[in-house]
Amino acid sequence: MSHSKSYDQIEIRIGQIKAEICKLGPLRPGTLSQQYNVCGRPECCCKGDPPRKHGPYYKITYSWHRRYTSEFVREVDIARVRAQLDSYQRLRVLVEEWVGLGLERARLEREERKNSGRKTPGKGASARKFKATHPRDVLSRPHRGRR
Ligand SMILES: [Zn+2]
Repeated sequence: MSHSKSYDQIEIRIGQIKAEICKLGPLRPGTLSQQYNVCGRPECCCKGDPPRKHGPYYKITYSWHRRYTSEFVREVDIARVRAQLDSYQRLRVLVEEWVGLGLERARLEREERKNSGRKTPGKGASARKFKATHPRDVLSRPHRGRR
């Protein structure tokens, strides 16, 4: 039991995570890669021996809403894009940790209820609360408009 966190520790860490998320700069998902190309000119150095291909060209690829996209990135933009990719990765790590802490906190609550010997809230009450706060319901609400 000594390895598990207390409520206070969990709340403090969640507070730090929120603060760090607030400070994140611009972000975008994706992977940056380099590629070298061969052109269409027959006498070009890219056809030599050994060939000297053109490049590097930088490309960012990502999937968003199940759509796979690939874009070229100019060399002057590389540093900025790298920073955005790093911010996105950091956000993912922080959100992951936050969710883990949320689960840990829920486990503590469950154990506390068990130890206190009190009954869990009535089924109706907890079900209603769950439905009202479930993200899926919140997200789908705008689509439920009267037509
Ligand atoms: Zn060429």
